[in-house]
Amino acid sequence: KKNLIVFGTRPEAIKMAPLVQEFKKHNDKFETRVCVTAQHREMLDQVLEFFDIVPEYDLNLMKPNQNLYSLTGDIILELKEVLEDFQPDYVYVHGDTTTTMAASIAGFYSGAQICHVEAGLRTHNKRAPFPEEINRQITGRIADYHFAPTTASEQNLLKENIDPKSILVTGNTVIDALMDSSKRVENLENAEIEKLKALVDPTAKLILVTGHRRENHGDGFIRICEALKEIALQNKDTQIIYPVHLNPNVKKPVYELLSDINNIKLIDPLAYPAFVWLMNQSYLIITDSGGVQEEAPSLGKPVLVMRETTERPEAVEAGTVILVGTNKELIISEANSLLTDNLRYQTMTALHNPYGDGKACERIVEFIVKL
Ligand code: UDP
Repeated sequence: KKNLIVFGTRPEAIKMAPLVQEFKKHNDKFETRVCVTAQHREMLDQVLEFFDIVPEYDLNLMKPNQNLYSLTGDIILELKEVLEDFQPDYVYVHGDTTTTMAASIAGFYSGAQICHVEAGLRTHNKRAPFPEEINRQITGRIADYHFAPTTASEQNLLKENIDPKSILVTGNTVIDALMDSSKRVENLENAEIEKLKALVDPTAKLILVTGHRRENHGDGFIRICEALKEIALQNKDTQIIYPVHLNPNVKKPVYELLSDINNIKLIDPLAYPAFVWLMNQSYLIITDSGGVQEEAPSLGKPVLVMRETTERPEAVEAGTVILVGTNKELIISEANSLLTDNLRYQTMTALHNPYGDGKACERIVEFIVKL
């Protein structure tokens, strides 16, 4: 049987890399090829390099001032060539990006069976987050097989009358990637990690911050920055390290508001190995990222999530993350509490991570083998 694994952004690459590696172990049963749309370019390439993946097809679609209309159209048209060339039996897509949605449609047109990894996440509001929620809902309609990370995501699919036999609860593949990587980065020769070692203040409690979400652009990021400034000023024994997303809607307010505070270090986005290393060094993580809130609890790191709604309620219920939105006072009070209340901190770090055990990809491959 022939597998085509399609992805385009950094988080998809991180979460699909262990699936590519798992399928490559089964070369006797499958011919597996990778197609990248390169919806992100540099942020994707560093992940491919770290996981030693050389895509058979590279659509190289990233353009300046890219918009959703042209990106969607380009992906469908360019994938047509790939699908006609390789004629896969299965097309694998991940999550909720434009690549995911467009590749599902193209794969469906080709007659392949569509396998959705990280299926069933929902906010149930098709406009929030935009366009991710509608991307995953459309992909859920098209997909033949749904690899749901948790039972909550399985339940979302069942409520949409998806055939239970087509759903498998696997855990999130991000944990497969992280388990492999966090071991590897400890002994990795890596210039970026060496630079970080020089930057990190070993006497301080390290707070790692990331943020990029469209719904936080504008006032949201201003409130986030004001909160971070307050946390840094009130807690001189902490150091905030913030790899700032390159999007000007993020970069501009962050550099304007946080540039000259001694214990805040603004740096460029990090390649995945350095980021994993830094997560490991942190005391607390403040983020609006989906992937980071899944990863951090399995490293025993508490997370404040800067989102109003979430398609990942499991961690909130498990207590490994706290939703703080972009509410300045709440971000400050929850951070201060975790910096000073040792018992609360220790309790949170000991909680069970609901997102998996690192065997998601094994389960997916086993399922496909049996079809
Ligand atoms: N990440 C990274 N470098 C960074 C920030 C994040 O490699 O500077 C990784 C992180 O470990 C996680 C993924 O990128 O696996 C999350 O990506 P992002 O926050 O862009 O997207 P989301 O998960 O919100 O879709």
